[in-house]
Formats: sequence, structure tokens, C-alpha cells
Amino acid sequence: DLEIVPSPFLAFLKDLHSKYKSLQEGAVANYIPELAKVNPDLFSICIVTVDGQLYEVGDYEQLFTIQSMSKVFAYGLALEDRGRDYILTKVGVEPTGDAFNAIILDEQSKRPHNPMVNAGAIATTSLIKGSGATERLNRMLDMFRRYIGRDVFVDISVFTSERSTGHRNRAMAHLMLNFGTIDQNIEEALDLYFQQCAVMVNCRDLAVMAATLANRGTNPITGEQAVDSRYIKDILSVMYTCGMYNFAGEWAYKVGIPAKSGVCGGIFAVVPQQMGIAVFSPLLDTRGNSVRGVKVCEELSQHLSLHLFDCS
Ligand code: GLN
Repeated sequence: DLEIVPSPFLAFLKDLHSKYKSLQEGAVANYIPELAKVNPDLFSICIVTVDGQLYEVGDYEQLFTIQSMSKVFAYGLALEDRGRDYILTKVGVEPTGDAFNAIILDEQSKRPHNPMVNAGAIATTSLIKGSGATERLNRMLDMFRRYIGRDVFVDISVFTSERSTGHRNRAMAHLMLNFGTIDQNIEEALDLYFQQCAVMVNCRDLAVMAATLANRGTNPITGEQAVDSRYIKDILSVMYTCGMYNFAGEWAYKVGIPAKSGVCGGIFAVVPQQMGIAVFSPLLDTRGNSVRGVKVCEELSQHLSLHLFDCS
């Protein structure tokens, strides 16, 4: 079971939490009607180390839909299912510099730029193996279970809300169908993508998932292997270069560790061989990243000297 460690570090996290609790900038995502209902005051910070220590403050048990943070884990499953070389022919690894929902493909290859933006994530999800929609969904849910250490569920309201309003995503799928990037039934691929985005997690779960990536793919709490360690470098590389969308460069420069955000207001970050970090706060900036989440990660990176290239 998770061990809660009272410590000066926990006191530091509590201070960080109260410092940014008063920051009210940003807005909750409202382009998915069900997401607009979230309480904007929710705020939590969790850290799980690779040796299984847990530090948490705020609303860390509050469930929310994982949204774009799911893209990281779906990419891992697709890599396991199809291998690195094949996946690279279908989804690139270049940052776009554009918004997460931009309707663009790479000019020459007709591939989506990377698996962290919507187009690339839809293509990635369409590559997950299974004999039908149910088997593919079950394989996806089982993958999340391995990372989190408990059974996971899809929030049906958020799923149907997104399915009935997700016209941009549908447009991207049609564009990729046109170029032959996706050959599967696109409605089924979109359904699975919307379902993966509507998987419910809390901030603690996200920190455990991040710590699993930090721990070479093995969940530090359960000891179960969630993803083949050979794909960790692929996953963390695209997180580092593309995980924060059109803020990825500034994030890499300032915070300096691989991370992924979602329009639910979550951000998780991975410090390889050390820890997973997760922040949840639904108020977003214009790029779709949590305002408090970015601030907290900037401070944590500084305080703990987490920047990968910091040698001062
Ligand atoms: N499900 C959302 C979408 O496809 C995910 C976007 C996000 O979290 N950035 O629009």
C-alpha cells in the first residue's frame, strides 16, 4: 500500500499549494460541454518516488478525466503492439509549434507531426491491436490498470459529450483517412480515442503513472510492469519535445523534464530514475495547459534542481 511520509518536503509542498491556491488566472475548458462543469478551485499536487514514497496535498483523490495525458500511455501500447519502426511510418516525432487541436499533417509524409497532439493521438490509437472495439477498449483499460494499480473506468458523460461535439477531431480523422494514414474504421478509432480521454483518474494516480515511467516502466507501488522498458526512451522523448504543445520549448528550457498536460487541468512530469510529479488544477492558459500546474512545476524544478541539463 501507499505510504504517506510526513517530512519537511511535504511541508514545502503544502506551502507551494497555499501559495498558488490564490492564483485565479485562466479558464476551465468549455469546448467539451461536460468539462465546463468542473469546480475551478480544485487543486492538488502529488509526488511518487521510484522507491514508492508518496507526498500529496490538496484534492488528490478528486477524480477527473485524463484527457490528453492519455496520449502518452496509448503511444506506449501502440509501440508495443506494432514496434517502433512501423509506428514511425504512421506518426512523426516533430513538435508542431501549433495548438493541440490544429488540423495539420506533415506536408511531405502526410503523417501527423507527433503522438502528443490530437491528430497524432487519433492515429496512434487507431494502431492499437484487438479483434474488435471491445477488445481494443479492454486492452487499453488493462494498460491503464497496470500503470495505476487499480481498475479504471470511462466517464460515460464526458465520452458522449466529446463524441457528439468533437467535430475538429473528426475532421482530422477524415484528413488522415484521405491520405491513407488511418485505414481502420475511423468512427471506431475516434470512439476509442474519446474513451481513452474520458478515463477517470485522480492526481495520486497520475503521479503513480508518472513514477512508473520514471521507474523504467514498472509501477513502483505494485511492482507490475506497465510497459516494455525499451519504449521508455521513445515515450519520454516525445513528451519532452511535444508534451506541452506550443509551450513545449519554453517548458523544456525552464522546467527541463518530460511532461504532459491535458485540458482537464492535469500535468504530469517524469524525473527519470527518481520520481513522478502530478498537479491538478482546471484553470487553463490559452494553450490548454493548467496555469497553476505550470507554476508549481517551475518551482519544483528549481527547488529540487530537476532540470535534466542543470549541472550548476
Ligand atoms: N479529448 C480532448 C480533445 O481531443 C483532449 C485534448 C487535451 O487534453 N488537450 O480535444
